[in-house]
Amino acid sequence: MLKIYNTASRRLEQFKPAGEVVKIYTCGPTVYNFQHIGNYAAYIYWDLLIRTLKMDGYAVKRVLNFTDVGHLVSDGDEGEDKLEKGAAREGKSVYEIAKFYGDDFLRNFRALNLIEPDVIAHATDYIEADKRAVDKMTEAGFTYETTDGVYFDTSKFERYADFAKLDLEGLKAGARVGFNSEKHNASDFAVWKFIQPGEKHAMRWDYLGRPGYPGWHLECSTIIHEELGEPIDIHTGGADHIPVHHTNEIAQTFAMTGRELSRYWMHCNFITIDGEKISKSLGNVYTLDDLAERGFSPMDFKMWVLSGHYQGTRNFTFEGLAATKQRRLNWRNRIALLYQKASTASLVDGVFKEVLSVVNNNFNSAEAFSIIDTSELSMEDWKEIDELFGLNLINDSPDVNDAVRDLISERQAARENKDFARSDEIREELKSFGIAVEDTPTGPIWQYI
Ligand SMILES: [Zn+2]
Repeated sequence: MLKIYNTASRRLEQFKPAGEVVKIYTCGPTVYNFQHIGNYAAYIYWDLLIRTLKMDGYAVKRVLNFTDVGHLVSDGDEGEDKLEKGAAREGKSVYEIAKFYGDDFLRNFRALNLIEPDVIAHATDYIEADKRAVDKMTEAGFTYETTDGVYFDTSKFERYADFAKLDLEGLKAGARVGFNSEKHNASDFAVWKFIQPGEKHAMRWDYLGRPGYPGWHLECSTIIHEELGEPIDIHTGGADHIPVHHTNEIAQTFAMTGRELSRYWMHCNFITIDGEKISKSLGNVYTLDDLAERGFSPMDFKMWVLSGHYQGTRNFTFEGLAATKQRRLNWRNRIALLYQKASTASLVDGVFKEVLSVVNNNFNSAEAFSIIDTSELSMEDWKEIDELFGLNLINDSPDVNDAVRDLISERQAARENKDFARSDEIREELKSFGIAVEDTPTGPIWQYI
């Protein structure tokens, strides 16, 4: 029985899907730049959610969006469009930028062995649906027009502040004097932006008699409406999205459909690096490729992420990652030992059940890992552990081939003949296969190195 901490109710709740298929939406990347390890941590947490639901026997339909238009540099309505900015930076078209960084995201997604979403929705494929959505919100009286766009009037949605427990009065007082004086309330946001004469914006669509483009928050409401239908079961995203992006998604969906957007909300916390926020100025915006250059595989990073909790603030250090890499190697060597044992029958029944049950308790993978560390496991258990965490433990830990087996026997024979020079030679040769041999009273044992 799965228990989820629902950010909307701020309570741990027993999860019950509304229908046959669990409908899940994840706010995806803005595809204008490389994603850093902090971004991928979130997708790793959500992968555990999907895998747990599948292990629990649920059918899942999951949608993830690619923001390829309309996300301004601030999450509000200020600054340049991020895609336009990326295009200017690299001297490419916005479409080339979106394709390049979208592909790079998917390459990393696969390297992390994350279950691919059933639908990857590109915001630019939903422009007509966006226009229909704005029409509906306008018909229902939730919008007003200014010179630079169509705005959502947040004062018309009574529950606007509830989701994030927003201090709207404080927000009003804090709003910059003179900033967009046409806005009725400081928290109002653009659902559609008009392109001003002389403004450079390659992606443009005619709406209300003028060229423009959708506001960033709109695509998630529209895509959910088109691909899943409201309410969905679980909406996931970063905790930083609670006060603006998700609050706005909820408001838009209510205005256009009169319905709740999602029954459960899950938010993950951010990771810091060496105690600092991830930022360009600190030079700590690591990608998975940066980790690979330092000898860490995507699976080492995935295991590091899963060794903590999605709601906790995680501090990433290379020492921590090195310890996790060693832990993963230990697990792989336990699999290696199983290949070398005469009997691989299940030693202790039900260890995996225990593992799954702690994960079902709001994804306590850290405790699950401790159980794995301290329990004796069968190959069957490892298979299920791999299915639940997607750590490629068995795939990355093949049994040795005949050539290696022959070398191990030859070395053993050399040792028995006291030909230690030959035995050392073979030990070196085995290293080139990534195998170390240890001599024990019951004979040699090989391990991965
Ligand atoms: Zn979103």
